[in-house]
Amino acid sequence: MRKRIFYSICAVALACLLLFSVCVVALVYSSATRDGFENLRSGAATLATGYQAQGQAFLQQAAPANNRITLIAPDGTVLYDNRENPATLENHAGRPEVAAAMQTGAGSAQRMSGTFGERQLYHALRLADGNILRLAMEADSVLAQALRLVPWLLLIAVGLVAAASLAARWISGKLLRPLARLDLDDPLGTQTYDELAPLLRKLAAQQQRIAAQLAEMQARRQEFELVTDCMDEGLIVLGARGQVLSLNASARRILNTDADIADAPPLLSIARDLVLDEAVKQVLAGQGGHTVLEAAGRHYQVLLNPTRQGGTVTGAVLLLVDETEKLQAEQHRREFTANVSHELKTPLTSISGYAELIQTGTAKPEDVAGFAGRIQAESSRLVALVEDIIRLSRLDEKDPSLQKVQVELLGLAEQVAESLAPAAAQKETALLVNGEGCAILGAPSILTEILYNLAENAIRYSPPRSTVTIRVQRQPGGARLVVEDDGPGIPPQHRQRVFERFYRVDKSHSRQSGGTGLGLAIVKNGARFHGGTVELEPARPRGSRFIVTLPLAGN
Ligand code: ADP
Repeated sequence: MRKRIFYSICAVALACLLLFSVCVVALVYSSATRDGFENLRSGAATLATGYQAQGQAFLQQAAPANNRITLIAPDGTVLYDNRENPATLENHAGRPEVAAAMQTGAGSAQRMSGTFGERQLYHALRLADGNILRLAMEADSVLAQALRLVPWLLLIAVGLVAAASLAARWISGKLLRPLARLDLDDPLGTQTYDELAPLLRKLAAQQQRIAAQLAEMQARRQEFELVTDCMDEGLIVLGARGQVLSLNASARRILNTDADIADAPPLLSIARDLVLDEAVKQVLAGQGGHTVLEAAGRHYQVLLNPTRQGGTVTGAVLLLVDETEKLQAEQHRREFTANVSHELKTPLTSISGYAELIQTGTAKPEDVAGFAGRIQAESSRLVALVEDIIRLSRLDEKDPSLQKVQVELLGLAEQVAESLAPAAAQKETALLVNGEGCAILGAPSILTEILYNLAENAIRYSPPRSTVTIRVQRQPGGARLVVEDDGPGIPPQHRQRVFERFYRVDKSHSRQSGGTGLGLAIVKNGARFHGGTVELEPARPRGSRFIVTLPLAGN
């Protein structure tokens, strides 16, 4: 700014200087010309007086050194010239000053002298004898006048440049000071010069527009965050360079980050996962897709889609969906199918083996009855297994035919004990039921299953002459069913896993005694079907205690 002002001032000053110089030179030139003619006129008059008195001889002796004197006859012949030989000079009748003097008595002219090649001023005067007396002098050319002024003009130019520099400093300071003081947040509140007022008004209007747009953007952003923060899925919005523009609450939880995204950090600094990084590179190249992200032991399906504007990729949207349960369920289903196939195959193989022995007549007649008995036992196992599988799948699918009604648990426990009395009697096990009357809303068939499986296991896995107790306890808001035995108990490392399908602590004992490996899984799912839980803890001094907690409403 200062430089521009300096150059402008210099240009104007030098232009003025140039114009001024031209005018001065012109004035000096015209004044010098005027003075020259004046001198010639008075010189010519003096010479004319002398000539009249003394004749041509006067001219020769009185000729001034810096003037040329020429005496011309009325026919133009040069009679005398103090600088040149008159014989060599041409006829001067045609010279304008001479012609004018012949006609009017006096004449003046200026021109470049053909004789001397310089600018000459001429004044001619008609003498009394008819001859013409011409006086001439050299005059400076305009250039010579100007050249004489050059040193002065240079001096003035240097002075002007210095003055321009000072003026530029002063003017720019004066112009810029109010601009430097300008408060962009409140342009109209700043005291400046009037010429800035339109600019300030524009600034203020623009400021208002920007503030309104900013407020609207913030409101939209808050709205967006409010909506996306309610999502269970993680949502990440990326810019064109992969920088994080938005991260909802679920995405923060999944990536375990509280990163500040105000500076739009790269995604890799938040989620250090190279597979995800590769997928992000692809989506930013315009190719949508999906990948899997593992974080804190959970599996997330990541769906990546590019965002486009006019065909150009402007960023990407990432959706993180928790698929842990789904994957686990798939895994459980696969394991369950493999286990079921295995469990079915064992009895079927022995049934088909025994049947083949009988059919081919390989079996001795006295063994046939025994083989048939084994076929019958294996078939019963198969039936029990299939029934347990059906029960489990009904629970898994929340079979709508499982209606909930008021169930009196103490009465139910007594019925179960009654149906297990023969099995208990066989092992001389004391099967006791105690507790208090307690009714809940539940599915009677499932509650029976729960009690039956727990009590049957207690009898099955306890040594003969043990004691098995079923207790019904009322609790605020629910009921507790406790099935306790004084058998060998379940070692701590198995306690969590016995509720898994087909998990057995002692495989051979379980199979021998007709266990399907699904009893406790049915208990767990049955409790869950009622909104309850099942826990296993060691009994004192020994044995197992299964505690089923059921809410009153049985939801
Ligand atoms: P199973 O049909 O084999 O009994 P369950 O799911 O009912 O299958 O039980 C799983 C395993 O838990 C059993 O195989 C057994 O080893 C163990 N178990 C269950 N109840 C008891 C108990 N009262 N005492 C000792 N072990 C038990």
